[in-house]
Amino acid sequence: MFTLIPQIVIGGADLIAAFLFLFGLKRMSSPATAPSGIRVAGVGMVAAVLASFLYLFTVDAAARPHLLVNVGLAVTALLVGGAGAWMVGRKVAMTAMPQMVAIYNGMGGGAAGAIAAVELFGGRTQGATQLVVTLLGGCIGAISLSGSVIAWAKLDGLLKAPFRVTGQQVLNGLVFAATVAVGGVIVASALGVEGLGLTTPTWIWVFFALALVFGVLMTLPIGGADMPVVISIYNAFTGLAVGLEGFVLQNPALMIAGMVVGAAGLLLTVLMAKAMNRSVANVLFTNFGTPAKGKPGAIKGSERPVEASDAAIKMRYATSVIIIPGYGLAAARAQQKLYEFVKLLLAAKVSVKFAIHPVAGRMPGQMDVLLAEAGVPYDMIFQLDDINDDFATTDVALVIGANDVVNPAARTDKSSPIFGMPILNADKAGQVYVIKRGQGKGYSGIVNALFYSPNCNMVYGDAQAVLVQMIEAVRGLGAAAA
Ligand code: NDP
Repeated sequence: MFTLIPQIVIGGADLIAAFLFLFGLKRMSSPATAPSGIRVAGVGMVAAVLASFLYLFTVDAAARPHLLVNVGLAVTALLVGGAGAWMVGRKVAMTAMPQMVAIYNGMGGGAAGAIAAVELFGGRTQGATQLVVTLLGGCIGAISLSGSVIAWAKLDGLLKAPFRVTGQQVLNGLVFAATVAVGGVIVASALGVEGLGLTTPTWIWVFFALALVFGVLMTLPIGGADMPVVISIYNAFTGLAVGLEGFVLQNPALMIAGMVVGAAGLLLTVLMAKAMNRSVANVLFTNFGTPAKGKPGAIKGSERPVEASDAAIKMRYATSVIIIPGYGLAAARAQQKLYEFVKLLLAAKVSVKFAIHPVAGRMPGQMDVLLAEAGVPYDMIFQLDDINDDFATTDVALVIGANDVVNPAARTDKSSPIFGMPILNADKAGQVYVIKRGQGKGYSGIVNALFYSPNCNMVYGDAQAVLVQMIEAVRGLGAAAA
């Protein structure tokens, strides 16, 4: 049909897209440059999509006429999907971002799986290698799709408790083995082996159905604090699936974008597994989401509430304060009020630092983003390893809407599902104040012994409302002095 554009132009556009992806990713490594990094990568994505359409005008495409059949459908899908994502993205609440990221991740996996399905059902794969790569990408993409949907439901609170059955791992192993076996049957059928029971298209349906079921089975038992690892793994899976299907389609932009996402997801998986103090192999093949055996240790005593104003005044006259933000800060959208309060403490010559746990919130990096949004300077923000020793010499630890990441059971209680996870040593500070609404548990659903310890007081209320009271209390001191 059209043969106007030399292949080198497409190659150039792909190269520009690849450069923009990598440059954007580099800029995303710091909160200061992250917004521009996202825009740069977005321009890269536009270049990659344009390159894919330009491909239709090449000599190469003329030899593959089926590519021209669905151009209208592809453009319509782009417009509908792009407009939908734009509208949802603009409206989504900060606290719903993790679910949104999970579902978009799944859609990427689903798209890769769909490419594989189109190639397989169309019988277009050439040779055993390409067929195996297509099946591999399709399988990983389908697992990522169904697994991410379950992760979305868990993050959204639709699925609460982890779903576990006896022999779960054996069942998972059998379903996975069956998926591989059916993949083998599809390859054998393509190589001309006969008498395989079903027709090839039926085997392809069975293959995808098994991969989807495996994704569901793999994710259902995972609960509580292990979710960050799950999200990162599906991120890596989606990237890998897209990269493999890019290879099948010989589309460099897909290959590069897929591999960048896959590598970034893999690194994130390693980081999140480290944050949970588990090896990736352990997470993948053994204790995935399985709580340790035994009954949780009983907690003695009771929580002791104090007024927000009393806690605020104590902090105003302290020498040092470390603030630990958690999911509740995001839920209350209290980051601006928090920084307003911190500025009052700084003005009173109090040393203030922020301590960030890698799995705080519901999305990797969520707390850093919140604080950056409020304008907190980066040199006040410290990651777990860099600040944990400071708690012992700090007057006050202020925990705002955080729970699991400061639960000492992770250190001491072998029966706890979070046993072994490094936590922020808030309990070692001279005085601990915890802002939360009531007796609500953390994401992992376990009670926190910190709240009952002698050096801890609870300031009950929505984080935003409590911080407003704290600001008023400190301002009131200044007014009284004047
Ligand atoms: P948690 O989920 O452990 O605790 C949050 C606390 O915030 C709750 O105890 C709740 O208590 C309180 N809270 C909720 N809303 C408000 C509000 N409006 N004002 C004040 N307090 C509020 O949070 P953490 O950040 O400590 O831990 C994160 C957990 O989430 C970990 O288990 C982690 O593994 C998991 N997770 C993390 C992901 C990530 O990538 N970061 C992804 C998925 C899960 P109350 O109801 O009494 O107010």
